[in-house]
Amino acid sequence: MIKTLGLSKVFRTDEVETTALDKVSLEIKKGEFVAVMGPSGCGKSTLLNIIGLLDNPTSGEYYFNGIEVAGFKERKRTKLRKSNVGFVFQSFNLIDELTVFENVELPLLYLNMPSSERKEKVESVLERMQIAHRRKHFPQQLSGGQQQRVAICRAVVANPRLILADEPTGNLDSANGEEVLNLLQQLNDDGTTIIMVTHSPSDSEKADRIIHLFDGHIVTENIKKLL
Ligand code: ADP
Ligand code: MG
Repeated sequence: MIKTLGLSKVFRTDEVETTALDKVSLEIKKGEFVAVMGPSGCGKSTLLNIIGLLDNPTSGEYYFNGIEVAGFKERKRTKLRKSNVGFVFQSFNLIDELTVFENVELPLLYLNMPSSERKEKVESVLERMQIAHRRKHFPQQLSGGQQQRVAICRAVVANPRLILADEPTGNLDSANGEEVLNLLQQLNDDGTTIIMVTHSPSDSEKADRIIHLFDGHIVTENIKKLL
């Protein structure tokens, strides 16, 4: 499903140049649950953003379902992302002015789906994530755990094949974090490929495999030995 060869990302701002990813080669198969770990600033979010088609690499090859996408222009990349990828972030990133229902409906609006079909899909995912009773609430009226559940609904409502989660439990207490992980696990059991960045060793235990990043590289040893 995902294959990168020598993927690099260099950020250039005025006089500063940062190599966030340095020749990363990896392969992730359909249906895997992969955790990405490593110290702050080692390139985890950059890698996730490129894998999730939010950003382009500076160099290297990236195959998404067998298609080389590294050179895609933004419009083409965005189109591919919207029909294949769901994102979950640490800070939930819900829109405060929209209700729970409206937030979850957003990805379907981008796909130009008719209203009756949208309603059916949104209601079904809200039921599944046990948050349907809050459909008319606004994000600020919900607990952190509930907000993350809504964000997961929004990420999965269009049935993406790939879910990317960047520290999804980072702003949650352990009980809510556990619940969010269980939801991701359920989605993985149903066949969705999941890539999750986490700082938490207990979170990463849920994954089939852990990729350790250090200073823009993949390292095979446990990261703790390097620190
Ligand atoms: P992590 O998620 O592992 O904490 P990031 O992927 O966010 O790390 O960042 C990796 C490196 O790239 C850091 O040194 C960071 O400062 C730099 N970086 C990330 N995004 C940008 C950007 N948009 N512009 C400039 N530098 C960036
Ligand atoms: Mg990060």
